[in-house]
Amino acid sequence: MRILVCGGAGYIGSHTCLSLAERGHQVVVADSGVNSSARVVPRLRRLAGMPVPVHRVDLRDRGALSVLFATYRFDAVLHFAALKAVGDSCRRPLEYFDNNISGTIVLLQTMQAAGVRRLVFSSSATVYGEPAQVPVREDAALSVMNPYGRTKLVAEQLIGDLCTADTGFRAANLRYFNPVGAHASGLIGEDPCGEPTNLMPYICQVAVGVREKLRVFGGDYPTVDGTGVRDYIHVVDLARAHVDALEYMVREDRSVTVNLGTGRGVSVLELVHAFERASGRRIPYEIVDRRPGDAASVFADPSLAQELLGWRAEFDVDAMCRDAWRWQAMNPEGYRTSVRRTPVMRVRRPKIVAARVADAY
Ligand code: NAD
Ligand code: UDP
Repeated sequence: MRILVCGGAGYIGSHTCLSLAERGHQVVVADSGVNSSARVVPRLRRLAGMPVPVHRVDLRDRGALSVLFATYRFDAVLHFAALKAVGDSCRRPLEYFDNNISGTIVLLQTMQAAGVRRLVFSSSATVYGEPAQVPVREDAALSVMNPYGRTKLVAEQLIGDLCTADTGFRAANLRYFNPVGAHASGLIGEDPCGEPTNLMPYICQVAVGVREKLRVFGGDYPTVDGTGVRDYIHVVDLARAHVDALEYMVREDRSVTVNLGTGRGVSVLELVHAFERASGRRIPYEIVDRRPGDAASVFADPSLAQELLGWRAEFDVDAMCRDAWRWQAMNPEGYRTSVRRTPVMRVRRPKIVAARVADAY
């Protein structure tokens, strides 16, 4: 199939482009560049081993998006394109509504006009708010904790309404838990702008010496060691789930909503210690007050994804830490620095294949 990957230059999208390529699909990327570096593009092409056209397009630009759909005949769309920082969304809600919700509406309209009727949507465990029970199943109550979460819930609802109105439209809503880690090559990974708000990139920056110490938000939760528990999932496992969901939609001709997590809760301190083992570095930390709005423990029941898609997470926390560290050590300043060799990065170099596509990126 030929797949349009919206937001494909970002963290999860770039890894998913590689999973698509591995399974023999052709990939075209549309990305506005609002949270991605142009430096990911040559690396992506090199790892994919095939031409990957990357177009700088904002989903809200109806004209540019229509040209893209007129240029290529897409079999399906994977939609990662969104702003994703919870705190930022509280300060700039209208920008989040416009980017994430208006962008989704223009994309759906353009798909409909072009007769493209398969969509995989990046949703989030945030749609469960503070879950009443763990592990969280897909039929748990949905709620909104912040403007970012609202954009995810509204987008799921818009897509659901479209599936009802257009009985031939198929969608997969994938509710991610906590994506971490990086591609085994160390060439692509998560590159947050400024001070990270998520735990794993913060730990990585402490390990590499960019930050002095980790602040652990809360040591008095009713959890195994008093720190918050989450369901961390390796980005490569997550990427593979998108291809499984796409192929499920085609094979079964059905829509689907599933959780993507490992089903295993890991505390902040457990992750810190796993990272110390993987990196050989000490992670200094101090326990500070709880972060407002944080739940004590959130982890998935991922059994529906296994039952329907035949997917389950394969990488454990040690592998997540190992790969996150390799990426960070090779790219101490993310895509802003060129790849450096360090003692931790003994990995096979991928075969280098020249990019043959002229495109707009
Ligand atoms: P990311 O910021 O790395 O990737 C998103 C990409 O979309 C970026 O490259 C950005 O430039 C692009 N983009 C944003 N708005 C756009 C627009 N209007 N038009 C075109 N391109 C646009 O984020 P990520 O971590 O890869 O997340 C991908 C998706 O998964 C997002 O929708 C996010 O909300 C969702 N998600 C992420 C997490 C997480 O922890 N990373 C968890 C749950 C859900
Ligand atoms: N966390 C922390 N210090 C940080 C960032 C996060 O202690 O600098 C904790 C946070 O309180 C939560 C867990 O790490 O218990 C995961 O937080 P993250 O923001 O990565 O994911 P989310 O809370 O959105 O699931």
